[in-house]
Amino acid sequence: METILVTGGTGYIGSHTVVQLLESNYNVVIVDNLSNSSKAVLQRVEQITGKMPTFYQADIRDEQALTDIFNKHKVSAVIHFAGLKAVGESSQIPLEYYEQNIYGTLVLCQVMAKSGCKRIVFSSSATVYGDPASVPITEQFPTSATNPYGRTKLFIEHMLSDLHQSDPEWHIVLLRYFNPIGAHPSGLIGEDPKGIPNNLLPFVTQVAVGKRTHLSIFGNDYSTKDGTGVRDYIHVVDLANAHLKATEKLERLTGLRKYNLGTGQGYSVLEIVMTFERVTDEKVPYEVTERRPGDIAECWADASLAKAELNWSAQLQLDDMLVDAWRWQSGNPDGYAS
Ligand code: NAD
Ligand code: UDP
Repeated sequence: METILVTGGTGYIGSHTVVQLLESNYNVVIVDNLSNSSKAVLQRVEQITGKMPTFYQADIRDEQALTDIFNKHKVSAVIHFAGLKAVGESSQIPLEYYEQNIYGTLVLCQVMAKSGCKRIVFSSSATVYGDPASVPITEQFPTSATNPYGRTKLFIEHMLSDLHQSDPEWHIVLLRYFNPIGAHPSGLIGEDPKGIPNNLLPFVTQVAVGKRTHLSIFGNDYSTKDGTGVRDYIHVVDLANAHLKATEKLERLTGLRKYNLGTGQGYSVLEIVMTFERVTDEKVPYEVTERRPGDIAECWADASLAKAELNWSAQLQLDDMLVDAWRWQSGNPDGYAS
């Protein structure tokens, strides 16, 4: 049985990926410092899969802790989710973002190299396309960054690319996520943001559950179908499945590979609100406010490369994403603290 080490494995996307790895009979070792997640995730994962992953509360910047973990387990590949991800916060505390994301990945790769494990799947983001000149976005589009968070993703992509150039024994996949939403259909794991949510979906579900009075829609004067921002929302279970496919194919994929992970379809903020109200029968009061600085009008993926090379495509629809997000939020109004 192969062992996969998952950094950030108790987080939102990590926990869904751990479930699928366990269900596919991988051994899973999680490394997470719990800065943005809860240990309660582990019991939920066990409830779903009947298996308990090995868990280390450790920081990826801690070289000694990582070395000990790699000495203890014969790790065949790493799926690397750990890092900070709040765009707005990254402008307030950029050094923290550079340290945790860039330096953390550097330490991780150094320990991997020393231990002889040279296979990694990295969580990148559609943010590396900056403000794209057109849609849909292919992997060939030019990259740029508009905030410190995006710069960390872009820099890590370059770092991994240089690493691969220097030593072709490395097998590296960069997965560029569009907008992950939804939750496991069991309603046992889901997104549990600390404080006021930055992202649209957790905000919508918190309004519906009564934790917030109303949603602010950031601008309705974009040149989009109804004036509100358009994004490519993808079910977190589909996203997790792409990690499984990438991990399975890692050995056979040559060079450093980059894949967009989206559905290829764009929905506006208003469409999200209206669809959510329809499928859940809940009301989401909203008001239109100023645009959020740094937001782009629209963005969706051309995900055909992932289809061709990983044999992966998104299977779940917007209705599924919203029903599952609501099952998680309504069953766990205070997230894992419920
Ligand atoms: P998350 O915050 O739920 O998960 C990240 C996990 O990493 C958390 O459990 C946190 O405790 C842990 N962590 C953070 N810093 C750490 C460190 N220094 N050492 C050890 N553990 C650490 O976030 P997520 O939404 O699951 O995102 C996972 C990855 O995907 C991140 O790298 C994020 O940038 C990327 N991503 C997320 C989105 C999104 O919209 N959720 C979109 C594109 C890319
Ligand atoms: N959005 C909004 N209100 C919110 C949060 C987000 O109107 O409280 C909009 C935002 O302007 C964007 C879309 O919803 O058009 C998705 O935003 P999110 O932060 O979830 O993702 P990202 O900006 O990273 O694509």
